[in-house]
Amino acid sequence: MIIVMKQGAAEEEIQGVVALVEKLGFTPHLSRGEERTIIGVIGAKDKSTVQQMFASLDTVESVIPILKPFKLASVEMHRAPTVVDVDGEKIGGEIISIIAGPCSVESEEQILRIARGIRACGGRLLRGGAYKPRTSPYAFQGLEEEGLRFLKQAKEETGIKIVTEIVAVGDTDLLIEYADMIQIGARNCHNYALIKAVGQTGKPVLLKRGMATTVKEFIQAAEYILSEGNPNVVLCERGIRTFEDSTRNTLDLNSVALMKRWTHLPVLVDPSHGTGLRELVIPMSRAGIAAGADGLLIEVHDRPEEAFSDGPQSLKLPDFAECMREIAKIAAAMGKTM
Ligand code: PEP
Ligand code: MN
Repeated sequence: MIIVMKQGAAEEEIQGVVALVEKLGFTPHLSRGEERTIIGVIGAKDKSTVQQMFASLDTVESVIPILKPFKLASVEMHRAPTVVDVDGEKIGGEIISIIAGPCSVESEEQILRIARGIRACGGRLLRGGAYKPRTSPYAFQGLEEEGLRFLKQAKEETGIKIVTEIVAVGDTDLLIEYADMIQIGARNCHNYALIKAVGQTGKPVLLKRGMATTVKEFIQAAEYILSEGNPNVVLCERGIRTFEDSTRNTLDLNSVALMKRWTHLPVLVDPSHGTGLRELVIPMSRAGIAAGADGLLIEVHDRPEEAFSDGPQSLKLPDFAECMREIAKIAAAMGKTM
């Protein structure tokens, strides 16, 4: 349930309602809009009996029940789109953001070469995995802390911001030291201990949809992070498992259009994992932006044939340059800037 305060409500009136929410055993969440302040009433207790009481207060304009299973992530709670600040780079609102980089950090030279290449194409956010959650225990698991140090060097040299994945709660302190944004991968979309730990850091989070996660479950995973007090969440559609076996996953663009209606959080599309095929990345990048996404997560490698992971779906640097030009056209058609 959300309480919409009357336009121009004074601070003490707002605090009066907040105190009442707390007294009744609920947790208040304030959202101050340009015109009105909204107070989210969060808690497991039944709210139907108190709804009428709040609605009858002089300072309250209306009380709206939120029927969806997520509250803080809902558009009812926060009308304006959320813009997440990744060390000065904005994601959301009128901007199209591109996060690019190799699936894995493989060496100092590799990540520096790719970071320079991405910068030269206008990219400002570098994603590379130092901890890799691989399906096979025998596959490359990442360079771990050494990989984080290489990412830091790439940032120091090029100014590019760093996005990298966390796989274990125990790595949280290390990750926040090196990352500007922390990725939670598809395999951890339901790892609530990890999601909560990242929620407590306040760092921007790139949350990827699980391969068998419904849209409602996905947004509830984001709700965990928001309810830990971290508003900096970006959702990423990366494709789901279906009967289709010609592509790695089925990139669900329905979810993008739906999430843009249901939540105020920025939504990115990952056409690399969504298709698994390099030649489909540019067309599905265009489609993602046209569906309303706020940006893309794209795997890029200068030598994909030598990549330790996900080479076949990685764009080569000249392809990435072309991709950026193509996206700019769709962004302009959508009234957004890059
Ligand atoms: C990745 O981003 O490289 C990755 C492992 O993706 P996902 O978690 O979506 O499978
Ligand atoms: Mn990958």
